[in-house]
Amino acid sequence: MSPDPGLAHRVTAVREAVQSAAREAGRDPAKLVTIVVTKFHPASLVRELAGLGMRDMGESRHQEAREKAAELADLSLTWHFVGQLQGKKARQVQRYARVLHSVDRDSLLDALALPGGAEPDPGRGETDIFLQVDLTDDPARGGVAPDGLESLAERAEAASGIRLAGVMTVAPREGDPRRAFATLRELSERVQRIAPGATSISAGMSGDFREAILEGATHLRIGTAITGNRPDPR
Ligand SMILES: *Cc1c(COP(=O)(O)O)cnc(C)c1O
Repeated sequence: MSPDPGLAHRVTAVREAVQSAAREAGRDPAKLVTIVVTKFHPASLVRELAGLGMRDMGESRHQEAREKAAELADLSLTWHFVGQLQGKKARQVQRYARVLHSVDRDSLLDALALPGGAEPDPGRGETDIFLQVDLTDDPARGGVAPDGLESLAERAEAASGIRLAGVMTVAPREGDPRRAFATLRELSERVQRIAPGATSISAGMSGDFREAILEGATHLRIGTAITGNRPDPR
C-alpha cells in the first residue's frame, strides 16, 4: 500500500482538535494520551503513524494485534488492547499489550493477575488495566454494569501483577455522549475511593473525543478520524 498523503493532515487536525478541547476544558493537553486505534489496518500504516510521532496504538483482535506488534517490535510502541477479550487469551495479550482497556469481569481479572506474591516477568512490568463500564442496555458491547463496578475495582486493587489505571467506556450509539462521559466521571470518582491511584479515564472516539475531554478523559481511543475508513476485516 502506498503512503496516504492524507494521514499526516489528519494526525495534525486531530492533535489540534485535542489541544483546543483541552484548552476549552482548562486542562493541560500534554497530559492526554491519544491512542490511534489501528484495527484492520496493515502494519505499514502503523509504521507511518510512528513516523508522524504517534507512540500509542490500539487494537481489538488478539491474532491481528499480536502479528502487528511482532512485525513492528523495532519501533518500541505501546500497544493498548481495546477489544473484548476471552480469559484464555488474556496471558497471551499481556505479552505485547502494556495496557488493557476492556476488563469487565472477575474471571478476566483472575486470568490477568499473578498468583499472590509472584513478580511479573522482568522487562515487562505490570499490566495497566481499565475497567470497562457498560452504559447501554446492550450486553453485546461488553463492560460491567455500573452497579458491579465497585466490587470489580476492589478485586483489581487487591490483585498482583496488574495496576488498576481507571475506567473506560464506549458512549451509547444513541443520545448525548457528554452525558455518558459525565456518568463515567462520577463512576471514576467512586472507583478512586477504593483505588486512589486509578485516576485515568479511557473515553472518546473519533466522533466524541471533544465531549470526553470536557468530562475528564485522559486516554482517547481514536480510529477513523486519524486512519481514514477501516478496510474490511481480513
Ligand atoms: C474501533 C474502536 C475505537 C475507535 O473508533 P473510531 O470511531 O474509529 O474512532 C475506539 N474504541 C474501541 C473500543 C474500538 O473498538
